[in-house]
Amino acid sequence: MENCIFCKIIAGEIPSLRFYEDDAVVAFLDIQPANPGHALIVTKKHYPTMGETPDAELGRLFAAAKKVGLAAAAAVAAPGFNIIVNNGTVAGQIIPHVHVHAIPRFEDDGHQHWAKRSVPEEKMKAIAVQLQAALKA
Ligand code: AMP
Ligand code: ZN
Repeated sequence: MENCIFCKIIAGEIPSLRFYEDDAVVAFLDIQPANPGHALIVTKKHYPTMGETPDAELGRLFAAAKKVGLAAAAAVAAPGFNIIVNNGTVAGQIIPHVHVHAIPRFEDDGHQHWAKRSVPEEKMKAIAVQLQAALKA
């Protein structure tokens, strides 16, 4: 897609530290890493968010994310890693081309879990019922 940074990286039109590629995905280092080894795994085809991405492509994306996450953590001797998808602007998605972050994590690396919120039990129950209905085949 025109004017998409990740499509341009995939096409080789702008440089990146690309270290993995198969027929479905490309992986390269994030230019502003949260930690050393922070990698991005992106679909070769342009889909804006997870919602528009076919399940088969998501399967390939997440299988690659597992492989890359393990390799990235091993490369920097990190004991764990986060796999994150920011889906939609409100969720922090800046580049509208579906991608997975693999972020190696270290003890006391300064990153925190998201803030915990208290939701009333009745509301929790209503949401669970709503979800069950929405996801019925
Ligand atoms: P997101 O907020 O999930 O859309 O994340 C987009 C990520 O892409 C950010 O972590 C950026 O640092 C990263 N990024 C933006 N431009 C580039 C680039 N040219 N090469 C590598 N990573 C990039
Ligand atoms: Zn794109």
